[in-house]
Amino acid sequence: MICVTIGCGSHKRMIEEWQKLADDNVKFVELRLDYLRKDPQLFRLLPNRPTAVLATVRRKSDGGNWRGTEEARLKLLRSLIAEGVEYVDLESDVAPKIPRFGKTKRVVSYHNMEETPEDLDSIRNEIIQTGDPDVVKIAVTPKSISDVFRLVEFMKRARFEKGKPRLLALAMTDLGFFTRVLGKKWGAPYTYAAFSNSREVAPGMPYYKVMRDEYRYDQIDSDTQVFGVVADPIAHSLSPMIHNTSFAEQDMNCVYLPFRIPKEELSTFVDEASDSIGLKGLSVTIPHKMEIIKKLTQLDPAVESIGACNTVVFDGLNRYGYNTDYLAALLSIETAVAGRPLQRDEESPLKGMSALVLGAGGAGKALAYGLHERGARVIIADRKVEEGERVARWLGCEFCPWDEREGYVVQILANCTPIGMFPNVDESPMDIKSLRGGMVVFDAVYNPETTYLLRMAREKGCKVVSGIEMFVGQAFLQYKLFTGKRASAAYMRSVVRSALSAARE
Ligand code: NAP
Repeated sequence: MICVTIGCGSHKRMIEEWQKLADDNVKFVELRLDYLRKDPQLFRLLPNRPTAVLATVRRKSDGGNWRGTEEARLKLLRSLIAEGVEYVDLESDVAPKIPRFGKTKRVVSYHNMEETPEDLDSIRNEIIQTGDPDVVKIAVTPKSISDVFRLVEFMKRARFEKGKPRLLALAMTDLGFFTRVLGKKWGAPYTYAAFSNSREVAPGMPYYKVMRDEYRYDQIDSDTQVFGVVADPIAHSLSPMIHNTSFAEQDMNCVYLPFRIPKEELSTFVDEASDSIGLKGLSVTIPHKMEIIKKLTQLDPAVESIGACNTVVFDGLNRYGYNTDYLAALLSIETAVAGRPLQRDEESPLKGMSALVLGAGGAGKALAYGLHERGARVIIADRKVEEGERVARWLGCEFCPWDEREGYVVQILANCTPIGMFPNVDESPMDIKSLRGGMVVFDAVYNPETTYLLRMAREKGCKVVSGIEMFVGQAFLQYKLFTGKRASAAYMRSVVRSALSAARE
């Protein structure tokens, strides 16, 4: 069950938002009465309530907003119970002072806004002994990913203790975000989610529609398979949306989550995630694509050659690394050149063609490797001469200084720099004069889908391949590696397009 938290300053707005949630089929709402600017008026809020309610009056020391006295707060909590709210949240030190009454269920909570204490079991036991809880809620602040895994082990231990109140444990902030979604796997009775995308009442709390429709929280159970993307930062990744909507479309008991893991924590994360949370597959992105290679037990030859891995499949103690970026870009360029998808084992039409790759970063290396591997003559242009020459030598390609790139006459042009990316949509990495009809022009940039370069190329009669094809292609190939199943590339493409246009609005 998802409990949507409403925290707003006026009664009128709180009632309106509550009704809006009920109209959207939400069944359980937390009213954060500490957010009201005036004294809470229960006679306005509680009669005719549209959903079951959890009433919370959080004081400042626990991350809340209550401005009144503690005496007034305790009185309000007692009144809420007397009014028969379905659930009331009582902090662990306060619960012993407020006796059980009527049918109201008691969420007895512990919050730590500073750290994740070592002895979580003692905190829980004490709450059970002194607080008369129906649900024990423990919300902590992780300082490292090890703290989050420690919390997960705590949940797993508690799950198998019979006859004890249920435990809802969560690690706040984006580091512990996944505990909010996966807690249900380990017995959490519900999770919290925010009323809107822009209003986060507690650190790391997601929008309820994302929790409900994207992560499909209500379907998560102990068998749910876990996948995700590891990055830092992670906020704008489209990968959770593309994979989760495909899981939903194929009715698979899988969930795909964002893991914001700082560079120095990657090793611990990879060592523990498979055992702790049952991680089966991982997309890897900036800044971890190179560093992750050290953690692999088996590498696809492309990973070794490019020096970057964007996909890891976990299987027991084995971790297999792949690079679906290069293959996705290559397949879409081959399709454009041939005018149709290639048959398996068909000779690549790229053999003997000339290609200019702009940029020697992650995407540039992947493209240059793929084109070279298919038998094209590849020139890499980069503004850093030493680095560009090193990459070109390593991949068996030629190098050209950035300022000389327009002097080359090639059949394939691949932009692998961010030039032209939103918001700089009027920029192009090449002068329009260097484009000729019949060329294939690929742009790794996918926001916008039709970059200035691609627009000009189309006008000149070039065949164009957008970064969306690479993005969708790499996700399609990952999905196959993760699940053994084929997703619908057309569906993935439509999901990405609508997410990008929504983000620009
Ligand atoms: P990266 O590793 O940071 O490499 C970027 C490359 O572009 C570097 O060689 C950089 O040179 C060069 N560059 C940046 N700004 C430049 C400028 N103004 N003039 C000349 N060169 C410039 O980044 P990446 O991961 O390869 O990504 C590159 C682009 O591809 C991004 O827009 C990214 O969104 C896109 N991409 C798309 C997909 C997809 O699936 N469609 C996948 C990966 C990447 P310096 O080192 O000198 O800065």
